[in-house]
Amino acid sequence: MQSQALSRVVPRMRHLLARDGLAAVDDLLQRRPLLAFDFDGTLAPIVAQPDKARVPPGIARRLAALAERLPVAIVSGRARADLGPRLGFTPHFLVGNHGAEDIADGPALAAAPDEPTPHAHQLDALRRQLAGAAGRLAAAQVAVEDKGASIALHYRMARDRTVAAALIAGLLEPADPALRVFGGKMVVNVMAADAPDKAASVRDLVARAGCDSALFAGDDVNDEPVFASAPADWLTVRIGRDEPQSLARWFLDGTAEVPVLLEHMLALQARRKSLK
Ligand SMILES: [Mg+2]
Repeated sequence: MQSQALSRVVPRMRHLLARDGLAAVDDLLQRRPLLAFDFDGTLAPIVAQPDKARVPPGIARRLAALAERLPVAIVSGRARADLGPRLGFTPHFLVGNHGAEDIADGPALAAAPDEPTPHAHQLDALRRQLAGAAGRLAAAQVAVEDKGASIALHYRMARDRTVAAALIAGLLEPADPALRVFGGKMVVNVMAADAPDKAASVRDLVARAGCDSALFAGDDVNDEPVFASAPADWLTVRIGRDEPQSLARWFLDGTAEVPVLLEHMLALQARRKSLK
């Protein structure tokens, strides 16, 4: 029993750019993997103003090159319409709202802004409640971002984050079983309990892309279900070391190491092509 308890607190992630990590990347590319990435904090560095977040050109260029050979997916908490212009390349799949907003057919960036978003109406009661508390939310400097299929309550800009977080927690009590509430980096997210999460979304994308395996990289609370449910042969990568108990098998030290990983994958692809 004691060893089981200990095993839960011992950091288990290893550095993906170490020798055994790069060997695991090589193994993955022997199969046909889906390459799936979260956006904020994974491809795009976290910035004080979320509207300024962009995929750096060095990452976009390499992902565009990889996307010529392998299916590439972005699975983000942002709305699809918000994501597209921030990428700098065109992925095969673009899933928004933590997994709830996905267009199964058609080009990835073809979502019309006025298209009805599935699961959006399930948040209507919360919308009314938040509208009623607008004054208190503004005073606590909580920004309400309505993304259709999910609502984000941001408190990054709050003068007193403890007060802001307590106000949010109070508004969401008592817990509504029809809603799923989960935290993130200075944010509380709410979505319909029966909407797909990122784990369901990535599993679905792997099947739709006809892939045998996957790489998934993410940096936050809502990426953990993907790590937790990933088959043993998937490469799961936590960006950053801020959560030593993450269930990802590997880590990278921030978005700055993502281009290094992508460059390694491109080199492996090129070597394989030259051997054919
Ligand atoms: Mg993120």
